[in-house]
Amino acid sequence: MKTTRYRSTRGRSPMVGIGAAIAAGLAPDGGLYVPERLPRLDVAVFDPNGTLTDTATTLLAPFFAGDPLADALPAICAEALTFDTPLRPLAGDPHGHVLELFHGPTAAFKDAGARFLAACLRRLPRSDARPLTILVATSGDTGAAVGAAFHGQPGVRVVILYPDGRVSPRQAHQLGCFGGNVRALRVSGRFDDCQRMVKAALNDVELQREVPLSSANSISLGRLLPQMSYYAHAALAWWRAQAVPLNFIVPTGNLGNALACLWVRETGLPVGEIRLACNANATLSDFFSGDDYRPRAAVATLANAMDVGAPSNFERLRWTFGDDISVRRTVRAECVDDAAIRATIRRHAHEHGEVLCPHTACAAHVLDGLRAEGDRAECAVVATAHPAKFEGVVEPLAGRPVAVPSALAVMLQRPSHAEPLAAEDAALKQWLRQHAHAGEAFVA
Ligand SMILES: *Cc1c(COP(=O)(O)O)cnc(C)c1O
Repeated sequence: MKTTRYRSTRGRSPMVGIGAAIAAGLAPDGGLYVPERLPRLDVAVFDPNGTLTDTATTLLAPFFAGDPLADALPAICAEALTFDTPLRPLAGDPHGHVLELFHGPTAAFKDAGARFLAACLRRLPRSDARPLTILVATSGDTGAAVGAAFHGQPGVRVVILYPDGRVSPRQAHQLGCFGGNVRALRVSGRFDDCQRMVKAALNDVELQREVPLSSANSISLGRLLPQMSYYAHAALAWWRAQAVPLNFIVPTGNLGNALACLWVRETGLPVGEIRLACNANATLSDFFSGDDYRPRAAVATLANAMDVGAPSNFERLRWTFGDDISVRRTVRAECVDDAAIRATIRRHAHEHGEVLCPHTACAAHVLDGLRAEGDRAECAVVATAHPAKFEGVVEPLAGRPVAVPSALAVMLQRPSHAEPLAAEDAALKQWLRQHAHAGEAFVA
């Protein structure tokens, strides 16, 4: 197989292999790594009886071709994708389906990407003997997935920054429950503050000399590529059984999960229409209705993991389709406000017994709108988190308690601790310097 090389969306960085692209995260010119061209894949190369891991290994092989990491790809997929991503019928909609992505250890789809990234980084050579500190700013779910993926991994420490009081109580508990090589900092500010503080630390060359730093945000190819696997797996199974492509509606914030779905379709696999369901943050829906792309400050919503005003994968979306007109022709996006999220959770629970998390409810609302227009196409709503993570919102609307999945229950029983931190770049840098010489478990 020919070597696949990766270039920056901004075109001013040297091309690199997949291992180097994953190790770097962001390209040196500030752009995002994309493959020189997306590979073409044929339905026939996939094992019809294969597991999710088998599908992932076949799908991702051309992306890893020619790289030293390629030999380890089957093991990486087996280590990362240890949970099911079932496609099941949506109650009350004869042509509706739910792609459940929340059966991983932290009950959100981010587990797939975080675990794959961790499995890759474990295998990438490092010249520095000191532990690598991975910084992650989170609006709720990423931090837990990254913490869980790296917990106990030698040579790595994780520092999670989250906006104090702006994640659900169970999300907060999860973020602080790891201990050991994973630390949680609750920042007295917003998610944008956390993200800015992480960027400032990563860009500080002096600090990096004292504390080797890396990031695990959603622009990493190590998180994006594995997310293609569950779409390919569901789409292939559906295609084999029904001989029509399945449509998807993807709850969208930073555009990582939806882009993975789009890339699966671009490889030639049978995926139908793809719609993005956003919350009240209207950057994408305004763009898709014809406005210029205009990033802005995020507003807080019930679907907090999608509170993004400047979707970080937008550059990759543009690269994928070449220009704005083609992007708009290929994808659609819709905004769903909090009132609609509430009404959707309530209606699906009371009329059909379907209990949805606030993010999944955005996608279900888009589907309900299509049905009201008479659309009867086969369509899967992508369920990005388990409703039990947001019980404070969901239970009063659904009018019933939501059972907690066992992996989440285990985490909620552990003690949890987060240190307060001011929302200032200098505060994070000082914290990192103070802990620079502590061991992997952050103990001096
Ligand atoms: C992160 C997240 C999203 C948004 O995914 P992106 O890849 O950022 O678009 C949606 N729902 C849940 C539950 C999430 O945790």
